[in-house]
Amino acid sequence: MATECIFCRIAKGKSPAEIEYEDPEVIGFWDIHPKAPVHILIIPKVHIESVEEIQESDFKILGKMFLAARSIAHKKQLTDDGFRLVINYGKNSGMAVEHLHLHLLGGKPLGNMA
Ligand code: 5GP
Ligand code: ZN
Repeated sequence: MATECIFCRIAKGKSPAEIEYEDPEVIGFWDIHPKAPVHILIIPKVHIESVEEIQESDFKILGKMFLAARSIAHKKQLTDDGFRLVINYGKNSGMAVEHLHLHLLGGKPLGNMA
């Protein structure tokens, strides 16, 4: 059996994480090295390697990731001042974990990068 990635392990409750959101298909948890006062990672529970591996049939889960991000942003009261959603891919982005994840960042001015 192939080794599970760290985010698959978190999704299955096999590795600890500070869970902020969960539904049957998506889970949101705090980044272990937060880059902002709020830094939460939103992932599909199924292993999708990256944005490059997304299939047409994944459209529903991708929508759910965005709805989860918005729901967490509301819960964390980020909507007045704003927030950022980021998906990294490849070496220029610094992508480190090969399981699709959406970064939700907020709680301070985030600079004007992108
Ligand atoms: P990437 O650079 O791949 O877009 O982002 C991966 C993120 O996952 C990084 O911000 C990193 O701090 C976070 N991360 C890596 N390993 C773990 C872990 O085991 N637990 C949690 N909660 N976050 C992790
Ligand atoms: Zn995985």
